[in-house]
Amino acid sequence: AEQQFTVYAAVVEDGSSVLAVVSDISRMKRLEQMRSEFVGNVTHELKTPLTSIRASIELLKSSDRDEQTRSYFYDVLDMEAERLQHLIDDMLVLSRLENMREDSAAQPINVEETVRDSVERLSLTAVKNQISIDFHVDPKMYVRCAPTRLEQLFTNLVENAIKYNKPGGRVEITGASQQEIAVIKVRDTGIGIAEEHIPRLFERFYRVDTSRSREIGGTGLGLSIVKHIAVLYGGDISVESKVGEGTVFTVRLPLASGNTPV
Ligand code: ADP
Repeated sequence: AEQQFTVYAAVVEDGSSVLAVVSDISRMKRLEQMRSEFVGNVTHELKTPLTSIRASIELLKSSDRDEQTRSYFYDVLDMEAERLQHLIDDMLVLSRLENMREDSAAQPINVEETVRDSVERLSLTAVKNQISIDFHVDPKMYVRCAPTRLEQLFTNLVENAIKYNKPGGRVEITGASQQEIAVIKVRDTGIGIAEEHIPRLFERFYRVDTSRSREIGGTGLGLSIVKHIAVLYGGDISVESKVGEGTVFTVRLPLASGNTPV
């Protein structure tokens, strides 16, 4: 991006020196733009379910609805309320993560056990979507994290790998250490992600296919949460993908020192 600077200069009293305050306007503008984009996104995400909640209530109010229609609109209310709940939960998680520099709850956590917990938690979703999951993670790897956060990281990645897959597809999680780093890969045989979307993928509310993703039921915050968790614990995340073939997310986290629990 084009750099824009403003220089404020003032000559101080003895006339010998100049005080210059340089501020990077382009950065400020960018931050302001991101902030207003975020507010716009949140508003939109809240409005969509609310609109459908209000419409369902209106329809339920009229007395001439048969039992089947009424039950359909109750289901809509249920679903949309749940969506609002997820959105608010994810926004709270993200805002907490954004305000954290380090996590005092971090402790050595076994990676394989955490992957196993995430996979178990999602096994029903996988069955429903006709997706098989398997994992091969070095059982000796420990990383320093808060246990719930590490589980959330894997759960979000594996849930996406299921959601953006095809019936009969596969999800594979591998984990091995490379020097002092735990390298964990979540691979799927799903729809893939076109290259032009990759740079923005970890932004809040960024979706490749808005209508499809909404239908599938995500908040658009999952990957942003994943990235914040990885970075909070001194790691990072990257992605490789091929449209129609599948996607691999790679998470790198420093191994807990000594590579064993305390
Ligand atoms: P969402 O709640 O929409 O799933 P995420 O932040 O988790 O939000 O993901 C952002 C977008 O990235 C998704 O809407 C989807 O378009 C794309 N995406 C994420 N994971 C995958 C994947 N494994 N395969 C294909 N596309 C994916």
